[in-house]
Amino acid sequence: MTVASDIERVCIVGGGTAGWMTAAALANRLHGLGVRVQLIESDEIGTVGVGEATLPHIRAFNATLGIAESDLMRATEATYKLGIEFCDWGRIGDRYIHPFGNYGPTDDGIPFYHQWLRLREQGDTTRLDEYSFPVIAAENNRFRHPGSDVRQVESSFGYAYQFDASLYARFLRRYAEARGVERVEGKVVDVALDGERGHVRDVTLADGRVLDADLFVDCSGFRGLLIEGALRSGYDDWSNWLPCNRAVAVPTDSRGPLGPYTRATARTAGWQWRIPLQHRVGNGHVYCSSFISDDDAQAQLLANLDAPMQAEPRRLRFTTGRRRDFWKRNVVAIGLASGFLEPLESTSIHLIQDGITELLALFPTRAFDPADIDEYNRRMALHFERVRDFLLLHYVATEREDSEMWRHFRALTLPDSLQAKIDAWLTRGYVVPYQFGLFLPPSWVAVMLGQRLMPKGYDPRVLAQDDATIAARAAALRGAVAQAVQATPDHADYIRRSPAAAGLAA
Ligand SMILES: Cc1cc2nc3c(=O)[nH]c(=O)nc-3n(C[C@H](O)[C@H](O)[C@H](O)COP(=O)(O)OP(=O)(O)OC[C@H]3O[C@@H](n4cnc5c(N)ncnc54)[C@H](O)[C@@H]3O)c2cc1C
Repeated sequence: MTVASDIERVCIVGGGTAGWMTAAALANRLHGLGVRVQLIESDEIGTVGVGEATLPHIRAFNATLGIAESDLMRATEATYKLGIEFCDWGRIGDRYIHPFGNYGPTDDGIPFYHQWLRLREQGDTTRLDEYSFPVIAAENNRFRHPGSDVRQVESSFGYAYQFDASLYARFLRRYAEARGVERVEGKVVDVALDGERGHVRDVTLADGRVLDADLFVDCSGFRGLLIEGALRSGYDDWSNWLPCNRAVAVPTDSRGPLGPYTRATARTAGWQWRIPLQHRVGNGHVYCSSFISDDDAQAQLLANLDAPMQAEPRRLRFTTGRRRDFWKRNVVAIGLASGFLEPLESTSIHLIQDGITELLALFPTRAFDPADIDEYNRRMALHFERVRDFLLLHYVATEREDSEMWRHFRALTLPDSLQAKIDAWLTRGYVVPYQFGLFLPPSWVAVMLGQRLMPKGYDPRVLAQDDATIAARAAALRGAVAQAVQATPDHADYIRRSPAAAGLAA
């Protein structure tokens, strides 16, 4: 792509996952166009240091950069991820997997789950999961790459990675530096604005060096050094809807089978994650400080680990929400500097990717046209709001009332956008599709059915179909899934035998 822009210098402030993803993408797109890209990071400050589960879209990001999957996986101790297992969300004792894939085919515009709803009405007790290759493969700790024959169930899914995000940043640093990005070690202590337009003119480091640029990308983490510290963008606090505001994280040894999925277990005042990598398991407890103390949250996490700890627990604080302006004047905020939504559906790294994609699509000139900036902010606001609604769905599609947190959610007035989506579902199992948004209808179906939000009806066109034919088709699909999973290798063996093996090779 040619970027028709007179921008000559870009300065990225921050070298976490967001900073190095941005640097790598800019290096790839701007290489050879004479644009100087610098990235400032401070070893003294460090990075947030958590973030292990991703979404399938990250594969497209890496592919655009020309990164080979096995190189990436080896460098980041990655495992494959077919979805997220949710435990104790609808009721204590419940479990379901939100897979990266469909439940059966869509025939004549009718997704298969409507036929399943019809069968269920007639007394059929099969789980919808039995029609999903990624769910059954995940339940059996198996993995294979998707096939290319769209008629086969082996092609009906996507996958992502569970990896060490710090190692990912390091990997992308090598990539970006090899393509001309200059890394500057130093701590920004001052940000100067130009008097005329209020743009950021330059930043001053602790050792007195001054770095200027036409465009600044703020990847400085929660502090939002430029977007908030200097430009006062403002923050929309969404704690009312998503009150979890703290986390405690701890890595453990690997024990037992290597699941190709992340686990999120609901607790009394939040939820606990478990993310298996090749060399360790990441664990954490995301919780709400109004409903549990830090010490009790940590004790709850430690009591629910399934293997010895590899390090001391780390505590983190955050406020759920988003910057009012993601892009203001000549500063674009990406990553935690742009906002944060709790990691229940592994969306933060994806939102970084969205920020980068939108920035490349609307790459500015030095005129910084307000129309481009408005469009970027409109799109990013939608990305954030739709993720927010999907996360909130997990807390409100539930029968739980056993603690103060769950009672808080039962009394909550939902955002109109989410309420409308739930209402349409309850009537006839219809998922209002977004024209723009991350989670597609099968994801909504997974969570709503997985958390006992049963629709009253289904697509009436199903009634025009013969019940015996529906039942026969369903049985054939179930059989195909079971057979395909049977022929699928064990996840750990699959990695161990491939060039992606790192910690697992040992
Ligand atoms: C509890 C928790 C769990 C998470 N789990 C997931 C997950 O499973 N999946 C997922 O996708 N995401 C997850 N995330 C989010 C993920 O960690 C972040 O989105 C990702 O790491 C990006 O962080 P960042 O680069 O924006 O910020 P940071 O990692 O905080 O990096 C900020 C950078 O700015 C630099 N910096 C700051 N101030 C200065 C200064 N004054 N001068 C110079 N440099 C400066 C720092 O040195 C650092 O390099 C999680 C987040 C939390 C809090």
